[in-house]
Amino acid sequence: MELLAVSKTFPAELIAEAAAAGQRLFGESRAQECLEKIPALSPQLRWHFIGHLQSNKVRKVLPLCEAFHSVDSTALALDFERIAAEEGCRPQVYLQVNVAGDGRKFGFTADSVRREIGPLLALKRVEVIGLMTIPPLVADPELSREHFAALRELRDRIGTETGIPLPGLSMGMSADFETAIEEGATVVRVGSVLFGAR
Ligand SMILES: *Cc1c(COP(=O)(O)O)cnc(C)c1O
Repeated sequence: MELLAVSKTFPAELIAEAAAAGQRLFGESRAQECLEKIPALSPQLRWHFIGHLQSNKVRKVLPLCEAFHSVDSTALALDFERIAAEEGCRPQVYLQVNVAGDGRKFGFTADSVRREIGPLLALKRVEVIGLMTIPPLVADPELSREHFAALRELRDRIGTETGIPLPGLSMGMSADFETAIEEGATVVRVGSVLFGAR
């Protein structure tokens, strides 16, 4: 289980402090912030992109981040594949799934990810390593448990159906990371409990 320290909106100096305390893995959600902060910080740090990425921003961010948590359509994954080949990158991606089915604008549904994942697992440059979800905002993290469990079951089911096990489960934020870990998260995306309120 890895802790992704979500540093979006926080200045490079604060990230450098966390790095001095031993944290190496950081998450950003806006292309412009990546372009400003990542080159300004130690090359020892590792970066994951966690936001919705418009296809016209992919080329800029791809060389800066080792993984992308919010690949929310097959079209975007294919953009990644083409641009990664041109730029010489090998991005790891999580497919964002709306397991709660709450009619969000972005993300696969449980059905669409099962239907569409086959060709995505065969991509040469893009390595699909798992699934990611953001459950609906609720006051009690216990209410998110069923969505975390649903993502884990979906991940396992896809492994059985395709014969290619998916290791990654990106789930859990400041309010509910403990529950997500209990349900099998392999990476939690935690910002405000580490860095303060945004
Ligand atoms: C901002 C953000 C987080 C971190 O949220 P906190 O509540 O500050 O821990 C996690 N995941 C995504 C996708 C985010 O945009």
